Amino acid sequence: MMWFYVMSFGIMVIWAYAGWDAGVRLFSGKTVRRGTGSGQRIHLSFDDGPDPRYTPILLDILRQKQVPASFFIVGRRAEEAPDLIKAIREAGHEIGWHTYFHKHAYLLSPWRSIETMRRGKAELERIWGEPLRWFRPPWGASNVFQGWAAKRLRLQVVLWTANARDWSFSTGKAGIIRRLQSRVKPNTIIVLHDAGGDPGAPGHMLEALPEAIDILRASGYEFVSLREITGG
Ligand SMILES: [Zn+2]
Repeated sequence: MMWFYVMSFGIMVIWAYAGWDAGVRLFSGKTVRRGTGSGQRIHLSFDDGPDPRYTPILLDILRQKQVPASFFIVGRRAEEAPDLIKAIREAGHEIGWHTYFHKHAYLLSPWRSIETMRRGKAELERIWGEPLRWFRPPWGASNVFQGWAAKRLRLQVVLWTANARDWSFSTGKAGIIRRLQSRVKPNTIIVLHDAGGDPGAPGHMLEALPEAIDILRASGYEFVSLREITGG
C-alpha cells in the first residue's frame, strides 16, 4: 500500500509544479490561444528574437506588406540587441515577454522562475519604454511559480493557434507555406520564429513569409494586431 501513497504524492507534486494549466488557472485566469470576434481576422506573432541576422529583414517584409505583428522577446537577446527592440517599436508592432533564458519551465527552480521574470521583464520594459502586457512561456509550458509571477506582473498569457514547424530546417519554404495554408482559420494566432531553432531555419521562414502573406490575403484573411484580435 505504501507504494501507492508515495506514487500519488509524487504525481501531485509534479502536477502542482509543472502543470501549466494548474499555474495559470490558480493564478492568472484565462490563457489566450485564439482571437475573438467575427470576420476573417488573423494575427502573426514571432518568437525567440531579436536576432541581428533575421529580425531586420523581417521588419522590412512586414513594412512592405503593411502587416502588424507581435514579437515575443527573449530577455537575454534583447539586452544584446536593444536597437532591434527600438526598431520593432518604431515600426508600430507589439512585444511580449518570452522569458530571459528561454529555458523550459520544468527545469527552472522556483526562485529562478520568479526572479528572472521579475528582473528580466523590468529590463526589457526599460528598453521598450512602457509596461509589457503579454507573456508567452517557451514551448507553451510553465510552472506554478511562473503562473503566479505572471499574475503579479499583470501579464496576460498568450499561446498560439497554429504553428508552421518553421524551427526545423527540414520544413523548408514550401512546407511552411503549405502548413499555414492548411492550418489558418478565422481568429488564428500564428506563431513563427525569427531566431532560434535549427541553424538557418529562420532564413526559410523569411523566404516563405511574403508569399504566405499574399496567399492568406488572397483567401480573404486580414492581418490585425494582437490587441485587436484579442478584443482589447
Ligand atoms: Zn520560444
